[in-house]
Amino acid sequence: MNYRGRFAPSPTGLLHAGSLVAALGSWLSARQARGQWLLRMEDLDPPREVDGSAAAILGTLQRFGLKADAPVLYQSARGADYQQAFDALHKHGHVFACWCSRADLAARGGVHHDGHCITPPQDDREPAWRIRVPDRTITFIDGLQGQQRQDLRKVVGDFVLRRADGCWSYHLACVVDDAAQGMTEVVRGSDLLASTARQIFLQQLLGLPTPDYLHLPIALREDGGKLSKSARDLPAAGDDPVRELARALAFLGQEVSDECCVEHLLESAWRRFDRARLPRSKQLPWPPRERSLPLP
Ligand code: GLU
Repeated sequence: MNYRGRFAPSPTGLLHAGSLVAALGSWLSARQARGQWLLRMEDLDPPREVDGSAAAILGTLQRFGLKADAPVLYQSARGADYQQAFDALHKHGHVFACWCSRADLAARGGVHHDGHCITPPQDDREPAWRIRVPDRTITFIDGLQGQQRQDLRKVVGDFVLRRADGCWSYHLACVVDDAAQGMTEVVRGSDLLASTARQIFLQQLLGLPTPDYLHLPIALREDGGKLSKSARDLPAAGDDPVRELARALAFLGQEVSDECCVEHLLESAWRRFDRARLPRSKQLPWPPRERSLPLP
């Protein structure tokens, strides 16, 4: 089967160095496998969206030379497909309406695992829709982080597929789209490692294939916080893309050749890309140590 990978940013701010690492890691994997690399804009959550950030992210990726092999898929246009998957789960008795508030859940340790709503139905507000999670341990082998297992009911419980405000959950949309786009491998940041069991569970219920997974280390600020899309963690937004890419490559443990332009740097990077050199940690400090960068 032909390799297909993707980068799936949420338009909740501008691209930062940590997301560039994920974009580059997935791009390198796809190029080296002579496969396809696709972009998916995860614009599912209008309240969290930052105006203009979807276009800004795509513009930045272009300045970094990371071009998709097909038109960008926008999740905001995919509601009918999510509804279809939801209806299939509903028909087979896997989902239930839930009026539990955050406070109701907090009172029970923050995890809903009763398989039905324990709050009486309320006429004055819409329910969220949750998936009934059985007592099941999901296991998989991550391409970098190794053997993983999650006791789904204990750790995440009955999770939300559709929020009370009508927004589809990231997990449902991600699983439907990874299948629709024919993903063979998902390469992304390790902040999503703990989400993978939920996604595999949904794939199993929906009869969808499970791609391979590889979770890259995420970039941490000096103070130990995760890089975020807030202003202070922005990359140079592609102002000095060669240097930014060289830093992302060094973060991924790759050899960095001394190239003058983005095109040449990317070309030599995918040709030399060595998965065995990817660091096996879940997180690493940003910026990477300067000595792994080429001499000026
Ligand atoms: N949209 C998610 C994010 O920006 C990534 C989803 C994924 O790669 O599965 O964190």
